[in-house]
Amino acid sequence: MDQEKLGFSTNAIHAGYDPNKHEGALSTPIFCTSAYAFDSAEQAAARIGGEEEGMVYSRGGNPTVRVLEQRLAILEGAQAAVAVGSGMGAISTLAWTLLRPGDKLLVDVTLYSGTQTLVNSILPEFGIVTNVADFTRPDEVGASISRNTKLVLFESLTNPNMRMVDIKTISETVRERSEALIAVDNTYCTPYLQRPLDFGADIVLHSLTKYINGHGDVIAGVVIGSAEIVKRVRTAGMKNSTGACLSPADAYLILRGLKTLTIRMDRHCHNAQIIAEFLERSSCVKKVHYPGLQSYSQYDLARRQMKQPGGMIAFELKGGIEAGRKFINSLRLFARSLSLGDAESLALHPASMMKTVYTEEDRRDSLIDDGLVRLSVGLENVEDLLADLEHALSVLA
Ligand SMILES: *Cc1c(COP(=O)(O)O)cnc(C)c1O
Repeated sequence: MDQEKLGFSTNAIHAGYDPNKHEGALSTPIFCTSAYAFDSAEQAAARIGGEEEGMVYSRGGNPTVRVLEQRLAILEGAQAAVAVGSGMGAISTLAWTLLRPGDKLLVDVTLYSGTQTLVNSILPEFGIVTNVADFTRPDEVGASISRNTKLVLFESLTNPNMRMVDIKTISETVRERSEALIAVDNTYCTPYLQRPLDFGADIVLHSLTKYINGHGDVIAGVVIGSAEIVKRVRTAGMKNSTGACLSPADAYLILRGLKTLTIRMDRHCHNAQIIAEFLERSSCVKKVHYPGLQSYSQYDLARRQMKQPGGMIAFELKGGIEAGRKFINSLRLFARSLSLGDAESLALHPASMMKTVYTEEDRRDSLIDDGLVRLSVGLENVEDLLADLEHALSVLA
């Protein structure tokens, strides 16, 4: 079957797996094996040398993990993917593969907190220079590119403040000025809502921990791109540097979660739209950042770039840190938690809950308001979620 012609939901269930090659098993078998046996010394040499396709050792590849990789590559419209043990594993493995002392990395002002630490504190210790620009302003990105810029990395939407980057314009801006590779962390959107490669990016990163697995029971990540880039990331990066391979049992859970990605995302989006509209009417709320609202700063871009506005909302309470703390402590159904994309609704107030990660200075640099609350809207009945939010807001009034 030509997978390019099949629909997204069909591919999320079938791509990369043929039951007839596995005793007819409809569910992907978990290959619990660390190594593989060879027919002969010659075959071993050919496999290890990469002249013959096939498994060698599970740090470099595993049949269950391979199904997940092929499925995710097809869903993002890419040639290949390499799955790793966490989202941070994906980002750091990419960095160790592509960057060398003296190279420059250009990133957006807002990044996931772990990525922020990696690029601002850890990579510079190895002689890699990180430049920062506001990626909602392509002219600023253009001016920040130099001859040594090897990698451009950003999120869209950004975690946690829901800024949106115009992937097509940024990709064109970077290409006009350099040969840097363009990597987009697409965790917030999933390929169901947005495919960065269609807009000109080279590499897509995901924390599979979030929407793609969707059930809050696995930590995992992936790097997706051309066969050439993925081969380098798999070999020089994952196999020989970070060693951050994914367990086949976790790959199985993610394949299971992925089967329902589209119906889950439809429901996340449905619930989030209703909640965003409700928050916008509250007198305690200064601003709601949700791409499905006409008041969203980049509403027109959202309609071009995303199929639906997603399940994440950021909003700013009028009373700053204290209002945020009070609100978050008053929630009864939304869990106070760091993750996102689960069936359960989750809430985060960075200024109080992550005050050691996002200091006052970090919050200012990353454009995170003191009263900013992040919601990962789950799959519950929306009336119950609204009642919980209404109660927590009433404590502030
Ligand atoms: C969670 C997250 C990560 C890190 O992923 P882990 O699986 O937790 O290592 C990276 N980027 C974004 C946008 C995230 O939300």
